[in-house]
Amino acid sequence: MTVETTGFATRAVHAARNQGTASSRAMPIYLTAGFEFDDFDHAAGHFGTGAGFGYTRTGNPTVHAVERQLAALEGGADAVLVASGQAAVVTAFLTVAGAGDHIVSSTHIYEGTRGLLLDNLARLGIETTFIDEIGDPEAWRAAIRPNTRALFAESIANARNDILDIAAVSAVGDEFAVPLIVDNTLATPYLVRPLEHGASIVVHSASKFLAGHGSVLGGVIIDDGRFDATAAGHNAPHLVLPGRGGLASVAARHGGRARIAYARESVAPRFGASPSPLNAFLIGQGAETLGLRVERQSLNALEVARWLSAHDAVESVDYVGLETHPDHALSARYLHNGHGSIFTFTLRGGLDAARTFVEGVSVFTHMTHIGDVRSLVLHPGTTSHAHRTEDERAVLGVRPGTLRLSIGIEDVADLLADLDRVLSVVDRTLDHADLEPVGEAAA
Ligand SMILES: *Cc1c(COP(=O)(O)O)cnc(C)c1O
Repeated sequence: MTVETTGFATRAVHAARNQGTASSRAMPIYLTAGFEFDDFDHAAGHFGTGAGFGYTRTGNPTVHAVERQLAALEGGADAVLVASGQAAVVTAFLTVAGAGDHIVSSTHIYEGTRGLLLDNLARLGIETTFIDEIGDPEAWRAAIRPNTRALFAESIANARNDILDIAAVSAVGDEFAVPLIVDNTLATPYLVRPLEHGASIVVHSASKFLAGHGSVLGGVIIDDGRFDATAAGHNAPHLVLPGRGGLASVAARHGGRARIAYARESVAPRFGASPSPLNAFLIGQGAETLGLRVERQSLNALEVARWLSAHDAVESVDYVGLETHPDHALSARYLHNGHGSIFTFTLRGGLDAARTFVEGVSVFTHMTHIGDVRSLVLHPGTTSHAHRTEDERAVLGVRPGTLRLSIGIEDVADLLADLDRVLSVVDRTLDHADLEPVGEAAA
């Protein structure tokens, strides 16, 4: 039977079947829920070994191509792409930990990750100890318990721009056969590749720099492929014990790649935060220009940070690219192509000045996002960190006049002109308020 002889409804769904092949230079977007099996044995083989593609939640060629691309950029063995950065973080945690287990985390982390650990994973029986002094290996060592299954931190942390001493912290983890998971979102693999310094797993919000265009959400978990069943098996029974129905253990089937194989087989597809192949394609397109963007963004950020630190309205600038930053020397060991483009600065005029600033900028966009080609600004004290106490905010470097910037790829002269204009308004408002508070309020 040929499709031409079938009815209208049948033709509608079958006429476009099997488009044939053409050599597309870009990875085609396999926007399909599933894949046709060649024959009976092909289907059985796919379900038996997981090889090939059957259903997009468990694997898709477009998604797979982007996974290989991002694994290559981080110097990892393999990667699993998921629907958001949050999905990547939870996938990483649930790959290494379960009920009764414990995680040691830096306290200088993304608020969404903190909420995940405090609210959601706690309810699943995974407890977290947070440490403030992340530069002190002893602080990490002291927090480790027999049931600790992961150390977690960000390579560059918001809001203080702390740099993680990846080698020192992963060395502490190695003593206990506990993997270090690094959220490398703010740094990107263009600036630092944590796996090269001893971390075991890297996670990203691909919504940020990896995509770069600010058009999609995505996340990725990348593994070093160095799981050692002999040394670390006691901390990972789910990887070294036989599976349901007598299936050989994940470690027996996947060796050093056991962790990422478990994430791909058992965590990501079951919890189901699968990426759309269209979003995967857009992340892959973005990642092609990652180096060019981050190079330009870092240069722009350094100029903006220097300019701000010389301005009277500015009390402090927390950018690790400045020689005055406490982690500047440490950054020389880890960051080789720049210092990133996300940092905070604090206005002397406090909350009022911050309000004037975010409402006055025009080249900068006022929104909650980072790593975009456009420059962005947000006031953390009343947004991302609003539910924290003032003391907690102070520890994190978030004060009433603190603003977070994510510097884009614009001409830096236009960014400085925008800042100059808005800070002169901030200056005038402050002077005026100091001299005539009553008259100002009445007007
Ligand atoms: C944005 C972000 C996340 C969460 O990523 P989403 O893609 O928004 O889910 C996690 N970690 C860091 C450091 C982030 O900036």
